[in-house]
Amino acid sequence: MKVLILGSGGREHAFAWKVAQSNRVDAVFVAPGNAGTALEAGVENVDIAADDVPALLEFAKRECIDLTIVGPEAPLVARVTDAIAAAGLRCFGPRKLAARLEGSKAFTKEFLKRHGIPTAAYATFTKATFDRAWVTGQQAPLVVKADGLAAGKGVIICATTQEAIESAEAMFSGQFGSAGNTVVIEEFLEGEEASFIVMVDGEHILPLATSQDHKRRDDGDRGPNTGGMGAYSPAPVVTPAMHDRIMREVIEPTVRGLSSDGTPYTGFLYAGIMIAPDGTPNVLEFNCRFGDPETQPILLRLESDLTELCDAALDRRLHEVTAKWDPRAAVGVVLAAGGYPDAYDKGDVIEGLAEAAQLPGKVFHAGTKLIDREVTTNGGRVLCATALGNSVSEAQRAAYALADTIRWKGIQYRRDIGHRAIARERQA
Ligand code: AMP
Repeated sequence: MKVLILGSGGREHAFAWKVAQSNRVDAVFVAPGNAGTALEAGVENVDIAADDVPALLEFAKRECIDLTIVGPEAPLVARVTDAIAAAGLRCFGPRKLAARLEGSKAFTKEFLKRHGIPTAAYATFTKATFDRAWVTGQQAPLVVKADGLAAGKGVIICATTQEAIESAEAMFSGQFGSAGNTVVIEEFLEGEEASFIVMVDGEHILPLATSQDHKRRDDGDRGPNTGGMGAYSPAPVVTPAMHDRIMREVIEPTVRGLSSDGTPYTGFLYAGIMIAPDGTPNVLEFNCRFGDPETQPILLRLESDLTELCDAALDRRLHEVTAKWDPRAAVGVVLAAGGYPDAYDKGDVIEGLAEAAQLPGKVFHAGTKLIDREVTTNGGRVLCATALGNSVSEAQRAAYALADTIRWKGIQYRRDIGHRAIARERQA
Protein backbone atom coordinates (compact mmCIF):
# COMPACT_ATOMS: atom_id res chain seq x y z
CA MET A 1 0.00 0.00 0.00
CA LYS A 2 0.95 3.65 -0.44
CA VAL A 3 0.77 5.99 2.54
CA LEU A 4 0.78 9.79 2.56
CA ILE A 5 1.66 11.65 5.75
CA LEU A 6 0.81 15.34 6.09
CA GLY A 7 3.12 17.64 8.03
CA SER A 8 6.76 18.48 8.57
CA GLY A 9 7.48 18.04 12.27
CA GLY A 10 8.96 15.44 14.58
CA ARG A 11 5.60 13.71 14.87
CA GLU A 12 5.45 13.25 11.09
CA HIS A 13 9.02 11.92 10.94
CA ALA A 14 8.04 9.39 13.62
CA PHE A 15 4.89 8.41 11.65
CA ALA A 16 6.92 8.01 8.46
CA TRP A 17 9.66 6.00 10.18
CA LYS A 18 7.08 3.71 11.79
CA VAL A 19 4.91 3.25 8.70
CA ALA A 20 7.96 2.55 6.48
CA GLN A 21 8.73 -0.50 8.69
CA SER A 22 5.39 -2.14 7.84
CA ASN A 23 5.55 -5.05 5.44
CA ARG A 24 2.16 -3.95 4.06
CA VAL A 25 3.65 -0.66 2.88
CA ASP A 26 5.38 -0.14 -0.48
CA ALA A 27 5.79 3.65 -0.45
CA VAL A 28 5.60 6.46 2.11
CA PHE A 29 5.26 10.09 1.04
CA VAL A 30 5.45 13.04 3.39
CA ALA A 31 4.01 16.44 2.40
CA PRO A 32 6.06 18.54 2.83
CA GLY A 33 8.35 16.65 5.28
CA ASN A 34 11.76 17.72 6.57
CA ALA A 35 15.40 16.66 6.20
CA GLY A 36 14.75 13.62 8.42
CA THR A 37 11.94 12.29 6.25
CA ALA A 38 13.98 13.09 3.11
CA LEU A 39 16.82 10.89 4.43
CA GLU A 40 14.65 8.11 5.93
CA ALA A 41 14.82 4.77 4.09
CA GLY A 42 11.66 4.08 2.11
CA VAL A 43 10.29 7.60 2.58
CA GLU A 44 10.00 10.39 0.03
CA ASN A 45 9.12 14.06 0.52
CA VAL A 46 6.53 15.75 -1.68
CA ASP A 47 6.75 19.49 -2.11
CA ILE A 48 3.16 20.32 -1.15
CA ALA A 49 2.17 22.33 1.94
CA ALA A 50 0.31 20.24 4.53
CA ASP A 51 -2.79 22.44 4.21
CA ASP A 52 -2.84 22.88 0.44
CA VAL A 53 -5.92 20.72 0.12
CA PRO A 54 -6.44 20.93 -3.69
CA ALA A 55 -2.81 19.99 -4.40
CA LEU A 56 -2.87 17.18 -1.80
CA LEU A 57 -6.05 15.79 -3.24
CA GLU A 58 -4.65 15.81 -6.75
CA PHE A 59 -1.49 14.06 -5.53
CA ALA A 60 -3.47 11.44 -3.57
CA LYS A 61 -5.63 10.68 -6.61
CA ARG A 62 -2.72 10.59 -9.04
CA GLU A 63 -0.61 8.29 -6.83
CA CYS A 64 -3.61 6.17 -5.75
CA ILE A 65 -2.75 6.74 -2.07
CA ASP A 66 -4.33 4.01 0.06
CA LEU A 67 -4.06 5.82 3.38
CA THR A 68 -3.44 9.44 4.37
CA ILE A 69 -2.45 10.16 7.96
CA VAL A 70 -2.78 13.76 9.12
CA GLY A 71 -0.14 15.09 11.51
CA PRO A 72 -0.81 18.75 12.40
CA GLU A 73 -4.05 20.64 12.96
CA ALA A 74 -3.93 23.08 10.03
CA PRO A 75 -4.92 20.50 7.36
CA LEU A 76 -7.78 19.30 9.59
CA VAL A 77 -9.12 22.80 9.99
CA ALA A 78 -8.74 23.20 6.20
CA ARG A 79 -11.07 20.16 5.82
CA VAL A 80 -8.50 17.85 4.29
CA THR A 81 -10.24 14.72 5.65
CA ASP A 82 -13.57 15.78 4.16
CA ALA A 83 -11.97 16.47 0.77
CA ILE A 84 -10.00 13.22 0.58
CA ALA A 85 -12.96 11.14 1.78
CA ALA A 86 -15.25 12.85 -0.75
CA ALA A 87 -12.90 11.60 -3.47
CA GLY A 88 -13.39 8.03 -2.20
CA LEU A 89 -9.93 7.80 -0.62
CA ARG A 90 -9.03 6.95 2.97
CA CYS A 91 -7.80 9.63 5.35
CA PHE A 92 -7.31 9.08 9.08
CA GLY A 93 -8.26 12.31 10.81
CA PRO A 94 -11.41 14.02 12.05
CA ARG A 95 -13.79 15.93 9.79
CA LYS A 96 -13.82 19.72 9.96
CA LEU A 97 -16.72 19.92 12.38
CA ALA A 98 -15.24 17.42 14.82
CA ALA A 99 -11.87 19.18 14.55
CA ARG A 100 -13.50 22.27 16.09
CA LEU A 101 -12.60 20.61 19.39
CA GLU A 102 -9.11 21.84 18.69
CA GLY A 103 -9.75 24.90 16.55
CA SER A 104 -11.82 26.68 19.20
CA LYS A 105 -11.20 26.65 22.95
CA ALA A 106 -14.55 28.38 23.59
CA PHE A 107 -16.33 25.61 21.68
CA THR A 108 -14.43 22.96 23.66
CA LYS A 109 -15.25 24.51 27.04
CA GLU A 110 -18.94 24.72 26.14
CA PHE A 111 -18.84 21.10 24.89
CA LEU A 112 -17.17 19.89 28.11
CA LYS A 113 -19.66 21.73 30.29
CA ARG A 114 -22.67 20.49 28.33
CA HIS A 115 -21.49 16.87 28.53
CA GLY A 116 -20.52 17.02 32.21
CA ILE A 117 -16.82 16.37 31.60
CA PRO A 118 -14.51 17.76 34.32
CA THR A 119 -12.66 20.97 33.41
CA ALA A 120 -11.65 24.32 34.98
CA ALA A 121 -14.42 26.87 35.68
CA TYR A 122 -14.35 29.58 33.01
CA ALA A 123 -15.95 32.47 31.18
CA THR A 124 -15.76 33.43 27.50
CA PHE A 125 -15.48 37.01 26.23
CA THR A 126 -15.20 38.97 23.03
CA LYS A 127 -13.89 42.53 22.87
CA ALA A 128 -17.50 43.75 22.98
CA THR A 129 -18.54 41.62 25.98
CA PHE A 130 -15.30 41.84 28.00
CA ASP A 131 -16.13 42.40 31.67
CA ARG A 132 -13.13 43.73 33.59
CA ALA A 133 -15.11 43.73 36.83
CA TRP A 134 -15.78 40.00 36.46
CA VAL A 135 -12.05 39.36 36.09
CA THR A 136 -11.20 41.57 39.09
CA GLY A 137 -13.68 39.55 41.17
CA GLN A 138 -11.91 36.23 40.41
CA GLN A 139 -9.26 34.52 42.45
CA ALA A 140 -5.76 34.72 40.84
CA PRO A 141 -3.84 33.03 39.31
CA LEU A 142 -5.96 32.92 36.17
CA VAL A 143 -5.33 31.40 32.77
CA VAL A 144 -6.12 33.48 29.69
CA LYS A 145 -6.50 31.60 26.40
CA ALA A 146 -6.96 32.81 22.85
CA ASP A 147 -9.91 30.93 21.36
CA GLY A 148 -8.28 29.98 18.06
CA LEU A 149 -5.05 28.36 16.94
CA ALA A 150 -2.07 30.43 18.11
CA ALA A 151 0.84 28.05 17.48
CA GLY A 152 0.90 26.90 21.11
CA LYS A 153 1.45 30.46 22.37
CA GLY A 154 -2.13 31.53 23.05
CA VAL A 155 -2.20 30.43 26.72
CA ILE A 156 -1.01 32.89 29.36
CA ILE A 157 -0.85 32.02 33.04
CA CYS A 158 -1.45 35.27 34.95
CA ALA A 159 -0.36 35.73 38.56
CA THR A 160 -2.78 38.64 39.12
CA THR A 161 -6.21 39.69 37.87
CA GLN A 162 -4.63 42.87 36.46
CA GLU A 163 -2.25 40.77 34.37
CA ALA A 164 -5.22 38.69 33.18
CA ILE A 165 -7.04 41.85 32.07
CA GLU A 166 -3.96 43.08 30.22
CA SER A 167 -3.39 39.70 28.57
CA ALA A 168 -7.01 39.49 27.42
CA GLU A 169 -6.89 43.05 26.08
CA ALA A 170 -3.66 42.32 24.19
CA MET A 171 -5.42 39.35 22.58
CA PHE A 172 -8.46 41.48 21.66
CA SER A 173 -6.19 44.04 20.08
CA GLY A 174 -4.80 41.47 17.68
CA GLN A 175 -1.72 39.93 19.35
CA PHE A 176 -2.68 36.54 17.89
CA GLY A 177 -4.67 37.83 14.92
CA SER A 178 -8.23 36.57 14.69
CA ALA A 179 -7.40 33.67 17.07
CA GLY A 180 -7.77 36.21 19.90
CA ASN A 181 -11.14 37.66 18.87
CA THR A 182 -12.67 35.44 21.53
CA VAL A 183 -10.88 34.74 24.80
CA VAL A 184 -11.45 32.11 27.49
CA ILE A 185 -10.47 33.02 31.05
CA GLU A 186 -10.36 30.10 33.46
CA GLU A 187 -9.34 29.15 36.96
CA PHE A 188 -5.77 27.93 37.45
CA LEU A 189 -5.70 24.22 38.21
CA GLU A 190 -3.16 22.56 40.48
CA GLY A 191 -2.01 19.02 39.81
CA GLU A 192 0.07 16.87 37.51
CA GLU A 193 -0.43 16.86 33.76
CA ALA A 194 -0.63 13.82 31.55
CA SER A 195 -1.25 13.34 27.85
CA PHE A 196 -3.94 10.77 27.14
CA ILE A 197 -4.06 9.87 23.47
CA VAL A 198 -6.54 7.48 21.90
CA MET A 199 -7.61 6.38 18.44
CA VAL A 200 -11.31 6.69 17.70
CA ASP A 201 -13.37 5.18 14.87
CA GLY A 202 -16.55 7.19 15.42
CA GLU A 203 -17.68 4.85 18.17
CA HIS A 204 -14.96 2.59 19.53
CA ILE A 205 -11.86 3.75 21.36
CA LEU A 206 -8.34 2.32 21.36
CA PRO A 207 -6.23 3.95 24.09
CA LEU A 208 -2.56 4.37 23.19
CA ALA A 209 0.32 4.31 25.68
CA THR A 210 0.23 7.14 28.21
CA SER A 211 2.78 9.92 28.17
CA GLN A 212 3.77 13.18 29.77
CA ASP A 213 5.34 16.16 28.08
CA HIS A 214 7.29 19.16 29.32
CA LYS A 215 5.83 22.40 27.97
CA ARG A 216 8.14 24.88 29.70
CA ARG A 217 11.41 25.74 28.04
CA ASP A 218 13.76 25.48 31.00
CA ASP A 219 14.80 22.86 33.55
CA GLY A 220 12.56 22.49 36.57
CA ASP A 221 9.52 23.36 34.39
CA ARG A 222 10.43 27.05 34.38
CA GLY A 223 10.54 29.64 31.62
CA PRO A 224 8.08 30.31 28.82
CA ASN A 225 5.56 27.81 27.47
CA THR A 226 6.63 26.08 24.27
CA GLY A 227 5.21 23.52 21.88
CA GLY A 228 6.92 20.91 24.09
CA MET A 229 10.57 20.39 25.08
CA GLY A 230 10.42 16.65 25.60
CA ALA A 231 8.15 13.76 26.55
CA TYR A 232 8.23 10.27 27.91
CA SER A 233 6.04 7.19 27.96
CA PRO A 234 4.49 5.65 29.98
CA ALA A 235 3.39 8.30 32.50
CA PRO A 236 3.43 6.67 35.94
CA VAL A 237 0.88 9.22 37.23
CA VAL A 238 -1.68 7.42 35.07
CA THR A 239 -2.06 4.33 37.25
CA PRO A 240 -4.42 1.60 36.02
CA ALA A 241 -7.16 3.08 38.25
CA MET A 242 -6.55 6.57 36.84
CA HIS A 243 -6.56 5.11 33.32
CA ASP A 244 -10.05 3.70 33.94
CA ARG A 245 -11.20 6.99 35.40
CA ILE A 246 -9.96 9.04 32.45
CA MET A 247 -11.63 6.62 30.02
CA ARG A 248 -14.92 6.70 31.95
CA GLU A 249 -15.08 10.39 32.90
CA VAL A 250 -13.36 12.02 29.93
CA ILE A 251 -12.78 9.94 26.81
CA GLU A 252 -15.99 7.90 26.62
CA PRO A 253 -18.35 10.86 27.26
CA THR A 254 -16.36 12.94 24.74
CA VAL A 255 -16.67 10.35 21.98
CA ARG A 256 -20.35 9.78 22.82
CA GLY A 257 -20.95 13.53 22.99
CA LEU A 258 -19.36 14.19 19.61
CA SER A 259 -21.49 11.45 18.14
CA SER A 260 -24.75 12.65 19.71
CA ASP A 261 -23.93 16.22 18.61
CA GLY A 262 -23.91 14.93 15.03
CA THR A 263 -20.13 15.20 14.56
CA PRO A 264 -18.84 11.65 15.08
CA TYR A 265 -15.08 11.57 15.53
CA THR A 266 -12.53 9.49 13.67
CA GLY A 267 -8.84 10.10 14.27
CA PHE A 268 -6.30 10.49 17.01
CA LEU A 269 -7.79 12.31 19.97
CA TYR A 270 -5.44 13.85 22.48
CA ALA A 271 -6.71 14.93 25.87
CA GLY A 272 -4.40 17.13 27.91
CA ILE A 273 -5.39 16.24 31.47
CA MET A 274 -4.56 17.92 34.76
CA ILE A 275 -4.92 15.31 37.48
CA ALA A 276 -6.04 17.23 40.56
CA PRO A 277 -4.72 16.32 44.02
CA ASP A 278 -8.12 14.66 44.70
CA GLY A 279 -7.75 12.57 41.53
CA THR A 280 -10.22 14.47 39.33
CA PRO A 281 -9.03 14.26 35.70
CA ASN A 282 -9.70 17.81 34.50
CA VAL A 283 -9.48 18.41 30.76
CA LEU A 284 -7.10 21.25 29.87
CA GLU A 285 -7.46 20.89 26.15
CA PHE A 286 -8.18 18.51 23.33
CA ASN A 287 -6.04 18.14 20.27
CA CYS A 288 -7.39 16.44 17.18
CA ARG A 289 -4.05 14.82 16.49
CA PHE A 290 -1.22 12.89 18.02
CA GLY A 291 0.90 15.10 20.31
CA ASP A 292 4.32 16.39 19.37
CA PRO A 293 6.71 15.44 21.01
CA GLU A 294 4.62 12.64 22.65
CA THR A 295 4.39 10.80 19.32
CA GLN A 296 8.13 10.19 19.22
CA PRO A 297 8.48 8.20 22.49
CA ILE A 298 5.06 6.56 22.07
CA LEU A 299 5.80 5.28 18.55
CA LEU A 300 9.22 4.06 19.64
CA ARG A 301 7.28 1.76 21.99
CA LEU A 302 4.54 0.71 19.53
CA GLU A 303 5.08 -2.83 18.29
CA SER A 304 1.84 -3.07 16.29
CA ASP A 305 1.58 -1.92 12.68
CA LEU A 306 0.26 1.67 12.72
CA THR A 307 -1.32 1.28 9.27
CA GLU A 308 -3.34 -1.72 10.50
CA LEU A 309 -4.64 0.33 13.43
CA CYS A 310 -5.56 3.24 11.12
CA ASP A 311 -7.28 0.87 8.70
CA ALA A 312 -9.23 -0.75 11.55
CA ALA A 313 -10.37 2.71 12.67
CA LEU A 314 -11.45 3.70 9.16
CA ASP A 315 -13.43 0.41 8.94
CA ARG A 316 -15.06 1.08 12.34
CA ARG A 317 -13.61 -2.07 13.87
CA LEU A 318 -11.21 -0.58 16.38
CA HIS A 319 -12.76 -2.82 19.05
CA GLU A 320 -11.38 -5.83 17.19
CA VAL A 321 -7.72 -4.78 17.40
CA THR A 322 -5.25 -4.19 20.20
CA ALA A 323 -2.08 -2.15 20.28
CA LYS A 324 1.02 -4.03 21.42
CA TRP A 325 3.65 -2.05 23.36
CA ASP A 326 7.29 -2.52 24.17
CA PRO A 327 7.20 -2.69 27.99
CA ARG A 328 10.27 -0.47 28.21
CA ALA A 329 10.03 3.27 28.83
CA ALA A 330 10.89 5.83 26.17
CA VAL A 331 12.17 9.37 26.59
CA GLY A 332 12.36 12.03 23.88
CA VAL A 333 14.45 15.19 24.37
CA VAL A 334 13.72 18.12 22.07
CA LEU A 335 16.79 19.93 20.77
CA ALA A 336 15.73 23.50 20.04
CA ALA A 337 17.24 26.53 18.36
CA GLY A 338 18.67 29.23 20.65
CA GLY A 339 16.02 31.84 21.43
CA TYR A 340 13.06 29.47 20.94
CA PRO A 341 10.13 30.01 21.64
CA ASP A 342 10.89 33.61 20.65
CA ALA A 343 12.98 34.62 17.63
CA TYR A 344 15.67 32.13 16.60
CA ASP A 345 18.12 31.61 13.75
CA LYS A 346 17.61 29.21 10.88
CA GLY A 347 20.12 27.73 8.46
CA ASP A 348 22.75 26.56 10.97
CA VAL A 349 24.50 23.33 9.99
CA ILE A 350 23.78 20.45 12.38
CA GLU A 351 26.76 18.25 13.29
CA GLY A 352 26.95 14.86 14.95
CA LEU A 353 23.96 13.16 13.30
CA ALA A 354 26.12 10.38 11.85
CA GLU A 355 27.59 9.64 15.30
CA ALA A 356 24.11 9.68 16.85
CA ALA A 357 22.91 7.17 14.24
CA GLN A 358 25.43 4.64 15.67
CA LEU A 359 23.83 4.79 19.12
CA PRO A 360 20.66 3.06 20.34
CA GLY A 361 17.49 5.11 19.88
CA LYS A 362 16.37 7.41 17.12
CA VAL A 363 16.84 11.09 16.36
CA PHE A 364 13.59 12.36 14.84
CA HIS A 365 13.78 15.55 12.83
CA ALA A 366 11.36 18.47 13.19
CA GLY A 367 12.58 21.89 12.00
CA THR A 368 15.32 20.70 9.63
CA LYS A 369 16.04 21.24 5.97
CA LEU A 370 18.54 19.79 3.52
CA ILE A 371 20.66 22.52 1.96
CA ASP A 372 23.42 21.35 -0.38
CA ARG A 373 23.06 17.88 1.17
CA GLU A 374 23.76 19.26 4.65
CA VAL A 375 21.16 19.04 7.40
CA THR A 376 20.46 22.56 8.67
CA THR A 377 18.14 24.06 11.26
CA ASN A 378 14.83 25.31 9.91
CA GLY A 379 12.57 25.80 12.94
CA GLY A 380 12.38 26.35 16.68
CA ARG A 381 12.14 22.72 17.67
CA VAL A 382 14.79 21.10 15.53
CA LEU A 383 15.27 17.46 16.60
CA CYS A 384 13.93 15.00 19.16
CA ALA A 385 16.50 12.53 20.55
CA THR A 386 14.43 9.51 21.58
CA ALA A 387 15.52 6.30 23.28
CA LEU A 388 14.23 3.27 25.18
CA GLY A 389 15.34 1.95 28.57
CA ASN A 390 14.25 -0.53 31.22
CA SER A 391 13.24 2.43 33.37
CA VAL A 392 12.62 6.11 32.65
CA SER A 393 16.05 6.81 34.22
CA GLU A 394 17.73 4.43 31.76
CA ALA A 395 15.76 5.77 28.81
CA GLN A 396 16.71 9.29 29.87
CA ARG A 397 20.41 8.37 29.97
CA ALA A 398 20.21 6.87 26.48
CA ALA A 399 18.28 9.87 25.10
CA TYR A 400 20.87 12.30 26.48
CA ALA A 401 23.71 10.18 25.09
CA LEU A 402 22.11 10.75 21.68
CA ALA A 403 21.42 14.43 22.30
CA ASP A 404 24.96 15.10 23.51
CA THR A 405 26.48 13.97 20.20
CA ILE A 406 24.62 16.71 18.32
CA ARG A 407 25.83 20.28 17.93
CA TRP A 408 25.00 23.52 16.19
CA LYS A 409 25.37 27.18 17.03
CA GLY A 410 22.90 28.08 19.76
CA ILE A 411 21.49 24.56 20.44
CA GLN A 412 19.46 24.41 23.66
CA TYR A 413 17.73 21.56 25.41
CA ARG A 414 16.48 20.68 28.84
CA ARG A 415 18.55 18.32 30.97
CA ASP A 416 15.69 16.94 33.05
CA ILE A 417 13.11 15.41 30.71
CA GLY A 418 11.27 12.73 32.66
CA HIS A 419 12.16 14.16 36.07
CA ARG A 420 8.76 13.48 37.66
CA ALA A 421 8.77 9.82 36.64
CA ILE A 422 12.41 9.49 37.73
CA ALA A 423 11.58 10.96 41.15
CA ARG A 424 8.82 8.34 41.44
CA GLU A 425 11.27 5.58 40.42
CA ARG A 426 13.69 6.74 43.13
CA GLN A 427 10.93 6.66 45.75
CA ALA A 428 9.86 3.13 44.75
P1 AMP B 1 -3.54 24.33 26.69
O1 AMP B 1 -3.08 24.71 25.31
O2 AMP B 1 -4.92 24.79 27.01
O3 AMP B 1 -3.31 22.90 27.03
O4 AMP B 1 -2.54 25.06 27.68
C1 AMP B 1 -1.13 24.91 27.58
C2 AMP B 1 -0.53 24.64 28.94
O5 AMP B 1 -0.89 25.69 29.86
C3 AMP B 1 -1.06 23.37 29.59
O6 AMP B 1 -0.36 22.25 29.17
C4 AMP B 1 -0.84 23.67 31.05
O7 AMP B 1 0.50 23.45 31.44
C5 AMP B 1 -1.13 25.15 31.15
N1 AMP B 1 -2.54 25.37 31.51
C6 AMP B 1 -3.58 25.55 30.67
N2 AMP B 1 -4.73 25.73 31.34
C7 AMP B 1 -4.42 25.66 32.66
C8 AMP B 1 -5.18 25.77 33.87
N3 AMP B 1 -6.48 26.02 33.84
N4 AMP B 1 -4.52 25.63 35.03
C9 AMP B 1 -3.19 25.41 35.06
N5 AMP B 1 -2.41 25.31 33.97
C10 AMP B 1 -3.01 25.44 32.78
